Amino acid sequence: MSVKTFTLNGELVSAGEDQTILDVCDEQKVPIPRLCHLEGLGEIGACRLCMVEIQGWSKLAPSCMTRVEEGMVVTTSSERLQSYRRSIVELLFAERNHVCAICVVNGYCELQNLGYAVGMDHVRFAYQNPALQIDASHKRFALDNNRCVLCQRCVRVCDEVEGAHTWDVKGRGAAAQVITDLDAPWGQSESCTSCGKCVQVCPTGALFEKIRPKAEMVKNRDFLVYLKTAREKKLWIR
Ligand code: SF4
Ligand code: SF4
Repeated sequence: MSVKTFTLNGELVSAGEDQTILDVCDEQKVPIPRLCHLEGLGEIGACRLCMVEIQGWSKLAPSCMTRVEEGMVVTTSSERLQSYRRSIVELLFAERNHVCAICVVNGYCELQNLGYAVGMDHVRFAYQNPALQIDASHKRFALDNNRCVLCQRCVRVCDEVEGAHTWDVKGRGAAAQVITDLDAPWGQSESCTSCGKCVQVCPTGALFEKIRPKAEMVKNRDFLVYLKTAREKKLWIR
């Protein structure tokens, strides 16, 4: 594997040719916002929060999908990026019903944290307030579509890690929704093993355990890196 040297926020850094800009930023402790990316899952570049500026490129680039190149000059923080990221977070809040004060993950939500990180003190877009369904048919878990940001972590962990492929997405744009088993109620799913991986990786309160009252669902995502190390390197270590 060859090594690439490039400039990251004014500093020269080296990285493997297979690494993405986001990989290197994580190694270098350079903060990059993200919602769809999660270590241990395949990339889909859906949330567009991890965009960076690359000198000579007319468009912003998703750092999770862009491999490092020799001589690249990358900027991860600028007024333009801050404004862009804040707009995305505001649009996510306006699109569905994110009422943090009565949410099961209040205080532990990645979307809520992003709101703080981008300095969102109000939302400039009209709230859509859609009346979306809650599926509480599963004996242990529930899905509240009103909290879903369509990151598809649930789809990927269930397919790539658990191997059940219970989740999918139906519809397009603002009408898109996650579904289980060809849009049957989750509780009737024949593919779901009730492992709970989808619930743990969900960044918001869209997927939660039924026993949790508001503000009490702390999610555990460390298991993914543990499983990945175990499977790829045969090392059962945390
Ligand atoms: S509980 Fe496990 S098997 Fe069932 S939908 Fe979630 S990840 Fe898939
Ligand atoms: S249910 Fe959660 S993990 Fe699945 S797409 Fe929605 S926000 Fe993402």
